[in-house]
Amino acid sequence: MPEGDTIHRAAARLRPALAGQVVRRFEAPRLLGDRPKVGTRIDDVEAVGKHLLVHFEGGLTLQTHMRMTGSWHLYRPGERWQKAAHLSRALIEVDDWVAVCFAAPVVRTFHRNEDPVGHLGPDLCRSDLTDADIDECVERMAACTGPADEIGAVLLDQRVACGVGNVYKSEVLFVCGVDPFTRVADLDVDTRRRLVTTASRLLRANLDTAQRTTVPGGLAVYGRNRQPCRRCGTAVRSRRQGEQARSTYWCPTCQPARSAR
Ligand SMILES: [Zn+2]
Repeated sequence: MPEGDTIHRAAARLRPALAGQVVRRFEAPRLLGDRPKVGTRIDDVEAVGKHLLVHFEGGLTLQTHMRMTGSWHLYRPGERWQKAAHLSRALIEVDDWVAVCFAAPVVRTFHRNEDPVGHLGPDLCRSDLTDADIDECVERMAACTGPADEIGAVLLDQRVACGVGNVYKSEVLFVCGVDPFTRVADLDVDTRRRLVTTASRLLRANLDTAQRTTVPGGLAVYGRNRQPCRRCGTAVRSRRQGEQARSTYWCPTCQPARSAR
């Protein structure tokens, strides 16, 4: 499942292959927006939260959002693809490489003056994240949430902060000892701040590895329903949460309920 760390890794792979190169072929069957012309130079490849952006000279940017299904692959020209061609949503060919985006639900382009990701919160995967960015996330958490919103759902809101997906959501709440069903309104500022800084720390610690680790041994609670908590031995629980009914995992002993459900 792509989260912020996955997108940053994809950008790190694509950048040396594409940046500075000239587009030889561009295909995007469902593209919304203007099409980069063959012969255009690629300025850079960038990850912003869960968006992978390819910037072209002249100010046009290709935006792909991976949601649950999307992925970018890099192939040599003529190399056999690992996924079916009909799943291709964007293809950029340069002299030595073919970059293919499979199954991404959002593929669009925008011009520099439009910036569709301006409404997103700070990107927690960035190595140059500042205290001011953390403060902004904490403020956005207050601004974006209603009185009944639960922290387990709000951590996924990319308007608050970018990069946290369903895996990190559960892991961050475990590391901070916070019950996922706590209303954000019942969390003090210190706890909100600790959640954001912990999310950033865990995301950044996993940027260079495919095997996500948040506690010694791997993941603390995510995907471990009914298995013993690595810290206290209590059976880990799982439940659907939020409008999108995303699965949430938690240890009821290490993350005691703070408010009436
Ligand atoms: Zn526990």
